[in-house]
Amino acid sequence: MSTEEKLNQLRRLTAELANLGGIQALLDWDQQVNMPRGGMEDRSEQAALVAGIMYDRATSPQLGTLIEDLASEIPDINADDDLAREIKVAKRDFEHISRIPREKLIEFVMVTSRAHEVWVQARENNDFPSFAPHLTRIVELRREQAELFKPFDHPYDPLLDEYEPGMKTAEVKAIFDALRPQQVALLQRIAQAEQVDNSFIREKYDIDSQEKFGRFIATRMGYDWNRGRMDLAPHPFTTSFGYGDVRITTRYMETDGMSSLFSTMHETGHALYDQGLNPKYRHTSLGRPTSLAVHESQSRFWENLIGRSQAFWQFAFPIAQMLFPEHLGNLSIEQFYRGINRVEPSLIRIEADEATYNLHIMLRFEIETGLMEGKLETKDLPEIWNSRMQAYLGVTPPNDSRGVLQDVHWSGGMIGYFPTYALGNLISVQWWEKMVADHPNIPDEIASGDFSTVLAWMRENVHRYASRYDPQDLVQKITGSRITSEPYMRYLEQKYSQIYRL
Ligand SMILES: [Zn+2]
Repeated sequence: MSTEEKLNQLRRLTAELANLGGIQALLDWDQQVNMPRGGMEDRSEQAALVAGIMYDRATSPQLGTLIEDLASEIPDINADDDLAREIKVAKRDFEHISRIPREKLIEFVMVTSRAHEVWVQARENNDFPSFAPHLTRIVELRREQAELFKPFDHPYDPLLDEYEPGMKTAEVKAIFDALRPQQVALLQRIAQAEQVDNSFIREKYDIDSQEKFGRFIATRMGYDWNRGRMDLAPHPFTTSFGYGDVRITTRYMETDGMSSLFSTMHETGHALYDQGLNPKYRHTSLGRPTSLAVHESQSRFWENLIGRSQAFWQFAFPIAQMLFPEHLGNLSIEQFYRGINRVEPSLIRIEADEATYNLHIMLRFEIETGLMEGKLETKDLPEIWNSRMQAYLGVTPPNDSRGVLQDVHWSGGMIGYFPTYALGNLISVQWWEKMVADHPNIPDEIASGDFSTVLAWMRENVHRYASRYDPQDLVQKITGSRITSEPYMRYLEQKYSQIYRL
């Protein structure tokens, strides 16, 4: 076989893997959006079957041989070109999955699917002890998985690498160590200032109008409805079944009239990335977003840098007033802007404001690395959780349901995932600074409801590269610096000094 033929073979196989991934995502979307409760058992079997088929294909000797041959036939696998990168990432994927024995993968799927059910009950009943043995087993399995990837600098490295290729625990730790004291200090200054009023959003807004508003803004942002749709889900998420079908979900809260809009902007930010991937990489090893942190840099960018900005509301506030006259009719834009940016140390990560969000993540990162190092035991987690919440945020959960049991990730075995949320926040401001330096008119454009330059910049500098670069390399290439906390702190200081008149 010629090199050309081998490359075509490889692409046929990676296309099949991408399509199986789309099928997997479709099963999951349906489960979260449409499936009746009675479908659980059948769906678990179907999901496990697809996962097994994917494993077998992703580790097939045929694929391994093709990749080996191609790697030796191309001039330099480390070259900075599309082809070398495509082979390199295919090789990395193959070697990664091949190190995990099939029975270990299946065991992990079984253990986490059972643990998820137990966690749902435990959170409902405020019963950490019933969940603890499951979590202990998950931590053991994650430590075993990490062992398969020796040598490493830190046992957390291989887990982090699954979500953030190339990122090291030491790098995350250095970034967080720089960020933590500054965020805590800012929070203390805000706590001394007079609190702003946000009672106008703590009301029940008309749901039809909320939906209309969300769809209008998503359209304005550039979401392509010919390649997407929006449905309801209890925990909003974005999913992609391929380049032509990228779906978002939202929810409507009784106690927060603006929550759905921000959530929709967040998910639309994710979706714009998936819709903007360069078609030339479709079905190759490079045809997916480069990392979760870069993905989150897109969602947080639209939700916060745009959605919680003064400029955006110059355009959107009159529309909101028309849609919700009884809640917003008598409010000034200034009152509204300050209200939606109210800072309040809270117990729940997903409800956290921009000034406190990263502190929630640091707490989880410290616990996860402690578990992987074997320095912490699961039975001690509630106590450690509560004491750190007090130290970082000044609040103590009244029970474990609102504390250590609040997030779904650990029951799903996703240890290593949390840091990507905070890194995404940091990167989102790095994009913003560079974008505005390139196009100083952007704030004025946003104020008039024109997001075309913003989206074009993201398409050009982030989306189209898909997995052509690892996350740190992409951030470096575009902004001239690796992932760093300085732009984010500059942004927070400036924003909240104004809002809280510090
Ligand atoms: Zn997100």
